[in-house]
Amino acid sequence: MPDTRLTDEQAALRKTVAEFAREVVAPAAAYHDETKTFPYEIIRQMGEMGLFGLPFPEEYGGQGGDYFSLCLAIEELARADSSVAITLEAGVGLGAMPIYRFGTEEQRRTWLPRLASGQALGAFGLTEPGAGSDAGGTRTTAVLDGDEWVINGSKAFITNSGTDITALVTITAVTGRTAAGKPEISTIIVPSGTPGFTVEPAYSKVGWHASDTHPLTFDDCRVPAENLLGERGRGYANFLRILDEGRIAISALSVGLAQACVDESVAYAKQRQAFGAPIAAYQAIQFKIAEMEARTHVARTAYYDAAARMQAGLPFKKEAAIAKLFASEAAVTNAREATQIHGGYGFMNEYPVARHWRDSKILEIGEGTSEVQKMLIARALGL
Ligand SMILES: Cc1cc2nc3c(=O)[nH]c(=O)nc-3n(C[C@H](O)[C@H](O)[C@H](O)COP(=O)(O)OP(=O)(O)OC[C@H]3O[C@@H](n4cnc5c(N)ncnc54)[C@H](O)[C@@H]3O)c2cc1C
Repeated sequence: MPDTRLTDEQAALRKTVAEFAREVVAPAAAYHDETKTFPYEIIRQMGEMGLFGLPFPEEYGGQGGDYFSLCLAIEELARADSSVAITLEAGVGLGAMPIYRFGTEEQRRTWLPRLASGQALGAFGLTEPGAGSDAGGTRTTAVLDGDEWVINGSKAFITNSGTDITALVTITAVTGRTAAGKPEISTIIVPSGTPGFTVEPAYSKVGWHASDTHPLTFDDCRVPAENLLGERGRGYANFLRILDEGRIAISALSVGLAQACVDESVAYAKQRQAFGAPIAAYQAIQFKIAEMEARTHVARTAYYDAAARMQAGLPFKKEAAIAKLFASEAAVTNAREATQIHGGYGFMNEYPVARHWRDSKILEIGEGTSEVQKMLIARALGL
């Protein structure tokens, strides 16, 4: 059924990515999940398809598309494998986008063509062991010594930070004090392999097994002064803007997972027999699936709306928070219900719903917890 909200180009992109997800990503998902291996070959193919360059202008190696197109691609990939979808989301939305939005012309030309081709990945280092929701509590410091920043501190849970193709991480660090005596936070690009920058061993996670996540430490790590990204002291504000956009993309990822749970449940309910009939014949099962479909539909509408506002240059912070809050909770609920519909088989890793269940919970946590989304919505209402 055509979606009247998409342009012909967006509909074509969605169809191409959906085919790729079905034919290439889905068959490999269980293997990467079980072996906890990063899907290099799939990422290479996604790079060739232009997915990592979707929202960037052609002069920087991009496709000249828009952020909404990126979200459509993320949704389709998440129907097959959330790890692959988050690798794209973090690579483009968090890795490359800060350089495009806030970088100098030289920084854009140095980094974007490689990042937009998918041959290299960028990471975004905001969270610290002691500062997540309260990201303004950054402890990492960067001190200007001649023409170099000397960075000390650590970051936690950083996606895409330790793959063989990771080229950089952009971090927040305290670079001084404001006139009001508050920490001055700036963002600095740290290329992979810089002495003093250590990518610690990967976390053992509940889900997103094929996504790359590490703690990072900085021990007298020196980078050139010109690696400052954006204005000095604007780092926190700039990262917040990136997170507002990122929430729309995480909503899209959540919708993809929620939709996958509907698809798997419809197929399973039609073939699983109990008490002499397919379980799909029972209204209790039908109602569960109907509610799952309704949740998915409303979540999709919410992220389409937030993306449309963003692209029209309208304020979209509240709408992005609403979409993230609703879509991530829809994904978690759908994953739980899909597992229930699958009975004991739903607890077996050979069924995709078991992976969706494990992959869903982080959606209520990453890029702002559900509580943080409620804080943003309440603030927008003047509370
Ligand atoms: C797999 C994974 C990938 C990630 N990738 C990245 C990445 O690439 N880059 C990056 O920078 N970060 C990344 N993160 C970090 C993620 O964004 C944080 O985990 C998240 O923002 C929550 O921070 P926290 O874990 O410190 O929890 P905390 O902030 O300690 O929160 C703990 C609990 O307290 C609640 N809480 C906190 N403050 C309040 C309040 N004022 N009112 C009510 N409740 C409150 C929270 O909602 C939560 O339920 C990743 C995390 C994971 C698990």
